[in-house]
Amino acid sequence: NQDEEKLTEYLDELEFLAFTAGATVQKRFTQKLTQPDSKTFIGSGKAIEIKEYVKENEIGTVIFDDELSPSQLKNLEREMEVKILDRTNLILDIFAQRAQTSYARTQVELAQYQYLLPRLTRMWTHLERQKGGIGMRGPGETEIETDRRIIRDRITLLKEKLKTIDKQMATQRNNRGKVVRAALVGYTNVGKSTLMNSISKSEVFAENKLFATLDTTVRKVVIGNLPFLLTDTVGFIRKLPTQLVESFKSTLDEVREADLLIHVVDISHESFEDHIESVNHILMEINAHQKPMIMVFNKIDGFSYEKKDEDDLTPSTRKNVSLEEWKKTWMAKSKYPTVFISALTKENFPEMKKMIYDEVMKIHISRFPYND
Ligand code: GDP
Repeated sequence: NQDEEKLTEYLDELEFLAFTAGATVQKRFTQKLTQPDSKTFIGSGKAIEIKEYVKENEIGTVIFDDELSPSQLKNLEREMEVKILDRTNLILDIFAQRAQTSYARTQVELAQYQYLLPRLTRMWTHLERQKGGIGMRGPGETEIETDRRIIRDRITLLKEKLKTIDKQMATQRNNRGKVVRAALVGYTNVGKSTLMNSISKSEVFAENKLFATLDTTVRKVVIGNLPFLLTDTVGFIRKLPTQLVESFKSTLDEVREADLLIHVVDISHESFEDHIESVNHILMEINAHQKPMIMVFNKIDGFSYEKKDEDDLTPSTRKNVSLEEWKKTWMAKSKYPTVFISALTKENFPEMKKMIYDEVMKIHISRFPYND
């Protein structure tokens, strides 16, 4: 049953997100509705079922794999008497935890206020009871307890601050001159940072959690005497909150202004085709879909991965499919240069490097036709 498989995958991902935010998932509830209930998203019977489970097991938070409307959120919290998080709030929280630079922090803060503004009444009633925890980081409590006008002013201020930094970053990008710029793009957790590390020998933070990369890192890389700039960008994800797409403009500008995209795919992940779609969708949204691209299918060493135990949250992998078989599929017949590698074991690295070199060289030559 395909629908059910999809559902499991989506909830696996949500569980992984929750884990990244620091929560442990106790139980999953699903419900089939032709459309979500406008007042409470789920049906009233399901709401009671969850409420009872929450009471019995002293659950702290209920997480929904969708963005809830402000009134749905309010109604659900009132009805279930428990803290409710939706997908957007969960993702914003992870971003808030992981923002390193003042730029990233400003972006997240802006996105959080934009999320908060229409939900203000709910926060007022709940902040008293709930101090801290997931979904409560970021804007300080005293700030939240002010009125909408003040939050609007803050949003205006943050937008101005971002504009100023955007300009600075644009200047920085211009100052990089005519050196070819390549950007690593891909779904979150596919191995972009690991690849960045192995190509540039730098120490970029890589871990098996969603959104380990929040801030872009730019490194100068040299392959066969040809220098170019390599950018590691934020991992894309299904249903990325619109507030974030908007506020991570500058991060995405790195992609928009890149000369070459290196699209990294975790081929060991069971939904890698969906991931490719999500990434292409975002590339389309930011109008970067017509750039030269290289497809890098990563983690070819991961085919034989088996869940170690119940707590192992690494998404399960495709089994019984050999690399040779994969190479015969549509992916290898993509219109883009395609290579299958392992960023961990460095298998097929020479082939990948040669491919990157060739593409960078093409762009380089188009730029400096009389040199070399
Ligand atoms: P990013 O979010 O795309 O930057 O992904 P990371 O570079 O942080 O990698 C996510 C996880 O995948 C980490 O646990 C890495 O060690 C792991 N990983 C990266 N490349 C490979 C690979 O080629 N094979 C395997 N098995 N794991 C990998």
